[in-house]
Amino acid sequence: MDYLCSRSENNVMIPCANPKAQYLSYRDDINSAIQRVLDSGWYVLGEEVTRFEKEFAQFNTVSHAVGVGSGTEALHIALRALDIGQGDEVITTAHTAVATASAIDLAGAKPIFVDIEPDFFTIDPDLIEDAITPKTKAIIPVHIYGQPCNMDAIMEIANKNNFKVIEDCAQTHGAEYNGKRVGSIGDVGCFSFYPTKNLGAIGDGGALVTNDDQLVEKIKLLREYGWKERYISSAEGWNSRLDEMQAAILRVKLKNLNKDNNLRRRHSKKYNELLKDLPLELPKTRSNSSHVFHLFVIKIEQRNKLRDYLQKNGVNTTIQYPVPVHKQKYFQKMCSEKSLPVTEQVAKNILSIPMYPELEEKEINKVSNKLKDYFS
Ligand SMILES: *Cc1c(COP(=O)(O)O)cnc(C)c1O
Repeated sequence: MDYLCSRSENNVMIPCANPKAQYLSYRDDINSAIQRVLDSGWYVLGEEVTRFEKEFAQFNTVSHAVGVGSGTEALHIALRALDIGQGDEVITTAHTAVATASAIDLAGAKPIFVDIEPDFFTIDPDLIEDAITPKTKAIIPVHIYGQPCNMDAIMEIANKNNFKVIEDCAQTHGAEYNGKRVGSIGDVGCFSFYPTKNLGAIGDGGALVTNDDQLVEKIKLLREYGWKERYISSAEGWNSRLDEMQAAILRVKLKNLNKDNNLRRRHSKKYNELLKDLPLELPKTRSNSSHVFHLFVIKIEQRNKLRDYLQKNGVNTTIQYPVPVHKQKYFQKMCSEKSLPVTEQVAKNILSIPMYPELEEKEINKVSNKLKDYFS
């Protein structure tokens, strides 16, 4: 009630992510894309999906993209297409959306969690060797918050051991590592188009990208009942299709993705300038990569106290993620009391402050001033 009563023109909550503002940015184009689909009479896997796949492949500098139902499904299908399942182990991190681990579990394989680099929150390549067993088949590096993993070190380990590499790019559409687009470095890249992601649909969606001509055939069979020919299953498959409406909307947003990622970088630069003297840790960026700031994550002790203060003062924050996957009830039993000290410490201290392309300068100033007030 207090919150509702205190709402006024200049006292509105600043959200952490803002898919509605993103819709309003491209309202006319999105409305006409939706109308085009409605008028076409074809609503699932049609012309819009085909075009989006071509444009998304081009954007990621790969030969193929395949639209699917969600990011989780993209990861699940990637594992199945690479013949990873029962009895296999997949190395990844616990500092991620639970979806990464769910996909491994869905495929029938076992997630093996490795700790992260304290500066970048991405998998620590120096710890991967210790996690390798005769059952290891693949690594899923999770590019987190908009920042790519140390892919040179990961690819070196993978090549030496003959492991597959599935990049989880759900938070890094358009990010680059050593001048290469994420998703184009490993065997396959997996994307989510959940509404708050850098490239977000108005509903669920996902995609896989790859340069492997044979793999793409298997991916397409898995996506739709194992159909090569309509109504005839020739291989394993189920339904994980992308619909035409989402593809048409994604085509509008993809055209603007570089511009939107540049806005996120500009906001992040502004935050860095305004917050640099405060006793908190600001995001660090790998020198050889371009960060796309899916989230702007600060680190501070007694994070919850700051979070409450900001919430009371009109600034919404989120915690991604409060409980590392290996500590979650369902996955805990697979992890035999494993401890991941950096992951566990990080989960206690992180806080995501508002970050989205449409964030206005006065809002960045307000968030920064509230942070300054908290410490004064
Ligand atoms: C969002 C996300 C996913 C899952 O995507 P969905 O489309 O929600 O299934 C997977 N991995 C990471 C790192 C994510 O952020």
